Amino acid sequence: MSSLLSKLIGSLRRKPPELKCKAQVWRDGVGELRRRTLLSTRESGAFLLGVDEGPSKRILEFVFYDDIDPNALASGIVHFDGTKFPRLWEHCRTRGYGVVADVHVHPGSYGQSSSDMANPVIPRAGHYAVILPDFAVRQTKPGGIGMYEYLGDGRWNTRTAEGSKFFKLD
Ligand SMILES: [Zn+2]
Repeated sequence: MSSLLSKLIGSLRRKPPELKCKAQVWRDGVGELRRRTLLSTRESGAFLLGVDEGPSKRILEFVFYDDIDPNALASGIVHFDGTKFPRLWEHCRTRGYGVVADVHVHPGSYGQSSSDMANPVIPRAGHYAVILPDFAVRQTKPGGIGMYEYLGDGRWNTRTAEGSKFFKLD
């Protein structure tokens, strides 16, 4: 019984991270998000494109909202115009990537706003949303950022506390 239990616990511990990204790709992408806040005066955000890697999803590219929708950051709060999605899908097709997650920067805490919860960027179960606090000038790595999994039907699972067990920079 106890050996079965320790096996179960062992397999839980070995559970691979659901999200992975090369540390350099993450650092560069986050740096660009920080730059696009224009000295912490507005939010910025990006789609995180990538591929399946075994049981994990690997983030390979940031596609910044304002590169596809020039007005996405204009109000100070990120808002991506849904009519611009065909440009994103075209880019994904060219690369052979899918949209794994999205990331946006908050002025303050990394908690989801009511608007973030009500309007998932990609309303598909299994999509992940990452929120960087403090205009991405302080904490930018798993353990200090908000991480959320969309479950569908307006419901979210908060994965923040799992830190690098959920999202590993490698
Ligand atoms: Zn938000």
